Amino acid sequence: MAGEATTVRMHVDGTWVDALAGEITEVASPVTGEVHTLVASGGRDDARAAIEAAGAARHGMAGRGVHERAALCNAVASEIDRCRGPLAETLSLEQGKPLAEAQAEVAFAAQLYRDAAAAIGQLSTETFAGRDPSKRVLTLRQPHGVVGVITPWNFPIGIPSEYLAAAIATGNTVVWKPAPTTPQIAAALMDCIAEAGVPPGAVNLVHGGAEVGDEIVSNRGTHAIGFTGSAQVGEIVAQRAGAKPQLLELGGNGPTVILDDADLAHAIPATAQACYMNAGQICQSSERILVGERVHDAVVEGLAEAAGSVRLGHPLDDATTMGPLNNEAVATKMEEHIQDALDKGALAVAGGRRADGFPTRLFYEPTVVDAVTPDALLNLEETFGPIAPVLTVTDLDEAVEVANACELGLCGAVFSGDLGKALSVAERLECGVVNINEHAAYWDGLTPFGGYSGKRSGVGRLGGKTTLLTLTQLKSIVIEQSSPGGHPNS
Ligand code: NAD
Repeated sequence: MAGEATTVRMHVDGTWVDALAGEITEVASPVTGEVHTLVASGGRDDARAAIEAAGAARHGMAGRGVHERAALCNAVASEIDRCRGPLAETLSLEQGKPLAEAQAEVAFAAQLYRDAAAAIGQLSTETFAGRDPSKRVLTLRQPHGVVGVITPWNFPIGIPSEYLAAAIATGNTVVWKPAPTTPQIAAALMDCIAEAGVPPGAVNLVHGGAEVGDEIVSNRGTHAIGFTGSAQVGEIVAQRAGAKPQLLELGGNGPTVILDDADLAHAIPATAQACYMNAGQICQSSERILVGERVHDAVVEGLAEAAGSVRLGHPLDDATTMGPLNNEAVATKMEEHIQDALDKGALAVAGGRRADGFPTRLFYEPTVVDAVTPDALLNLEETFGPIAPVLTVTDLDEAVEVANACELGLCGAVFSGDLGKALSVAERLECGVVNINEHAAYWDGLTPFGGYSGKRSGVGRLGGKTTLLTLTQLKSIVIEQSSPGGHPNS
């Protein structure tokens, strides 16, 4: 995509603005290497201005009726649908994913606003009798106020929409900082939100890096935090947010367990899909594949075949099934993890290096590594690239032990012909979500989703109604009925 770079601004209090200090950053496309965005890059003052705007808008937003807010969500969904073609193209060129995956992500984003609209209309709370027979207790769900939202680059329209849809539906206002490498799709989503009639100040967009994120998290003017990103940054966010309510959706290193009785014709392509979709840059990716000895050879052979059928290329080409990685840090980590595994005795069965002949060095060969040892970084840490690392386990207990030895615990998958056995593995895996006979990266947007307690994959849950609960606080109102005008009614 040779041509003019697009200029992207911030959106504060209903207006597109430049950074207060006038700073502009260049962002290159991972596909072409050319600068395709000039982004107004904010600092702490820009974040503070956005927090102030969100604070001024919060009572107005909370005061709107539930059905009015639901209508706003539906209007955002319609606006995303109307712009879906250009949105998907921008997403592909900026993030690197194939157009078909970008189209699916845009459709998913629109659905999240529809889901939030439907769920808020159904949200109910309890009313019950107090211990004292003349008391009635009424419970309500109220917005937190200003929610700080900080998001990554791997699903740069889908993940922000998880928070923004729920925030609009529940009557919060938002200060949102997207990832520095995906500002264009963020601005395009913000445009849809503004065009849909969401009031000024209700959703504010500030571009920038760690400093802007830190201001949003730590400023007393934000009342809750929604953060999706790495475990390392998530832990800093938790410290800086203090006692604010927070939803932390952090990294994963998902185990996929393929038991000896699995239907391999289904398990292998499904597992490969969860390794190479979005070039493996999914928190739910199948990051390590634990196989029984009897199926080991067939699984490795099948994964190598699947890697061979991946078409690496320009994400807008119809034939492409995998695009480049989003940024250099991801490519470097792939190299480090593969080298570490090979040093410890593993074998690269397919790929294992950056691909030649592309405009950037971010195109990585789909990779299969066999004989990965439990002490390898591939097993212990999130790799976040197009890789299928295979570990052999002797039995179900060892599969669970190796899977749970990792500090992360987000999503996993189990393939088995015996549902009872699969269920028992699923129950023992220390993951927030486990899919049985479905690949690890499957998620419908409604199922509760998040990290397992005691691991480093985050705190709290999102997904459908769950996100609405997370973005609201419970208020109890106790009514004394025997007071003048009241009727004791026990
Ligand atoms: P990251 O942690 O580097 O950055 C995430 C966001 O935090 C970015 O917007 C970044 O600018 C911001 N940030 C950086 N330093 C900050 C600070 N000190 N204070 C506040 N904000 C700060 O993650 P990334 O590389 O953008 O994304 C990849 C990671 O996200 C992977 O680990 C992946 O597993 C995880 N992820 C998790 C989920 C989930 O739902 N659990 C979903 C997608 C991605």
